[in-house]
Amino acid sequence: MPDNWCVKRLRPALGQTRFLIQAPDVPDRNQVEVSVTTNGEQRTVSFVILGPEEAKGYPAGVNVPTCAKCHARVEACICPQG
Ligand SMILES: [Zn+2]
Repeated sequence: MPDNWCVKRLRPALGQTRFLIQAPDVPDRNQVEVSVTTNGEQRTVSFVILGPEEAKGYPAGVNVPTCAKCHARVEACICPQG
């Protein structure tokens, strides 16, 4: 990871560990590798993150589940459940 990138751990939500990556400048193509150890087993996955120039033309957020009623992200929905 570049020295000027910053990783912050966020509060867990819906049983998921969350983190935030911030970078002052983002190259066109970036590969982020995340390793976790759970129950003594380490797993590593890689993600490709496109910079603003490379991501032009790609719709943002189309794969993010949203509430059908309020259209908020599922984890941010405040609709009464039931
Ligand atoms: Zn909702």
